[in-house]
Amino acid sequence: SADLPQSLQQAGRSRTEIGRRGVMLVLSSPSGAGKGTLSRLLLDTDRQIVLSVSVTTRERRQSEVNGVHYHFISVPEFESLRDRNGLLEWAEVHGNYYGTPLAPVERAIAAGRDVLFDIDWQGAVQLIDRMPDDVATIFILPPTMAELRLRLQRRAEDAPEVIEKRLKNSSREMAEWKRFDYVIVNDDLDGAFADVSAILRAERLKRARRTGIGRFIEGLTG
Ligand code: 5GP
Repeated sequence: SADLPQSLQQAGRSRTEIGRRGVMLVLSSPSGAGKGTLSRLLLDTDRQIVLSVSVTTRERRQSEVNGVHYHFISVPEFESLRDRNGLLEWAEVHGNYYGTPLAPVERAIAAGRDVLFDIDWQGAVQLIDRMPDDVATIFILPPTMAELRLRLQRRAEDAPEVIEKRLKNSSREMAEWKRFDYVIVNDDLDGAFADVSAILRAERLKRARRTGIGRFIEGLTG
C-alpha cells in the first residue's frame, strides 16, 4: 500500500457516513444499445446497488437464468400480480408483458440500498410519476443504427424476425429521450460506464436524498 498514490490510499479510507435514501437508478435504451453490459458492470463493481429483477411473460433466452435476469411467469400469473398491486410499474414491450415487483424495491430502499432498473421508457415514466424525488433516469443511445443492428445480431439469441421487430420499435423508443435526466451515447463501453458511475456518484450526494445531513450539521455546530 506504500506504493499506492496518496489519492488511492485515501479512497480506501472510510468516509463520514451520513444517512440517505437510496437512489432508484433507471437505465433505459432500445434493445442492443449496450444497457445490459453497462448494468452488469455496475452491479459487479458497486456493492451498494442491487438489480430490480423484473417479471416477464417473454420466453427465456438460453443464456438467461430464472430469478437472476428475470422471473419468467405466465400471462395469468402476471395479470394476477398486477391486479393485486404487486407491481411498481408494468408495460407491454415488443409484445410481451414486463413489470417491476414492488416488495423487493421497498425492502432495498428501506435498507439504504440503491436499486438499478433495466426498464423501458413507459416504465421510467411510471416511476417518475410515483416517486419523483427518488428516481434518476439515464437513456442510453447506440452510436449508429448499423451498430444497433450489429449488436442485436451478434447477441444471436433472438430470431431474425424478433430482431427486425426490435429495430423497428427502437425509433419509437428513442423519440422519448426528452423524458430522461441524462443521455449517454454508448460509442465506447469504458467511457459510457465512467459516465454512468459519475451520475450515480453525484445522485448519491444530492441534498434531497441525504436525510442525515441535518443531524450531522447539528453535531458540527453544537
Ligand atoms: P428484453 O426482452 O430485451 O430483456 O427487454 C425488452 C425491453 O423491456 C427492454 O427495453 C427492457 O429494459 C424492458 N424491460 C425489462 N423489464 C422491464 C420492466 O419490469 N418494466 C418495463 N417497463 N420494462 C422492462
